This record gives sequence, structure tokens and C-alpha cells, in this order.
Amino acid sequence: MKTEVILVIDMIKGFFQENFPLYGGDKVREIIPYVSEFLRLYSHIPIIYLCDHHAPDDKEFQMLPPHCIEGTEETELIEELRPYPGIIVPKTRFNGLYQTDLEDILRKLKVDTVTIMGICTDISVLFTAAALRERDYTVRVAAQGVASFSSLEIQHFALKQMDTILGVKII
Ligand SMILES: [Zn+2]
Repeated sequence: MKTEVILVIDMIKGFFQENFPLYGGDKVREIIPYVSEFLRLYSHIPIIYLCDHHAPDDKEFQMLPPHCIEGTEETELIEELRPYPGIIVPKTRFNGLYQTDLEDILRKLKVDTVTIMGICTDISVLFTAAALRERDYTVRVAAQGVASFSSLEIQHFALKQMDTILGVKII
């Protein structure tokens, strides 16, 4: 029997609310109804929320403009997902296993299957899926529950890489 979790990546105010510098726009907001409905339908499956979270001088800001500084509203889960409680895991890099508690939590829950949704398909979703596959987890990605700041072409490329190279099941 498989033991499953739903991993929701970066569905936080900094990327989903237009008053913040890295707001992703309508194309990221479009996934909210799908994700909420999925969490409602599968409420028996534990949820882990990976949430971007940086010190003010974090070196990730060599790659992206400053965003989601610890203690600010940007790092908070969006209101629409509040009805679905889960374990909050702060992360600082695109790979959600890097220097986070995620691996420990998965081990403690004896998880073998991780279903990913959230953003960005070509960044944190892709790199976290790769890190999980390297550790032999079964990974599923909900195509309608992920979005990218980039073009649809890049979104499709990332899904294809996960499918054909990483052996991720696209659902
Ligand atoms: Zn970040």
C-alpha cells in the first residue's frame, strides 16, 4: 500500500498577491481553484506546504530580486488554502529538500508517493521533483495544479522533462 502526501509549493502571498514584487499574475492565480478542490477532495491525505522564506541577505538574491523575507506577509500561505491545514516547511532554494525538514518529515511519515502542485513548474516544482526522484520517491505532478511565471512553452518543457527524464507521473 502506498503512503502519500500532497506537497504544495510556494502558494504564498509573495507570489500570488499583486502588491508584492514577484507577483506571478493571472496565470498563477488560475491554479487556485484546482488546488483548493484537490485538497478538499483528498482531505484524508496529509498536506505539506513548502514556503519560500529568506534572510534579508540571502544569496538566492543573486538569482532573483529580493522577495519573501522572513517575518513578512509575503511568506504566508494564501488565504484560499487556509481551510486545508498542513505542515509548513520553510525553504530557501528551488530544491525543496535542500537544508529543509522535508526529507525528515517524509521519512517519519513513511511516505513513498508525493503529489506535487504549486509553482513554478520550471523552477521549484522541477528541482524538487528531481531531488525526490533521486531519492526514489514516486512523484506525481498535477498538470492543472502547477503554473509558471514564464511562457506556456517553458511550462510544457518542464512537464515533459519530468515525465520523460525523471519518470514523474503527470496527472
Ligand atoms: Zn525565493
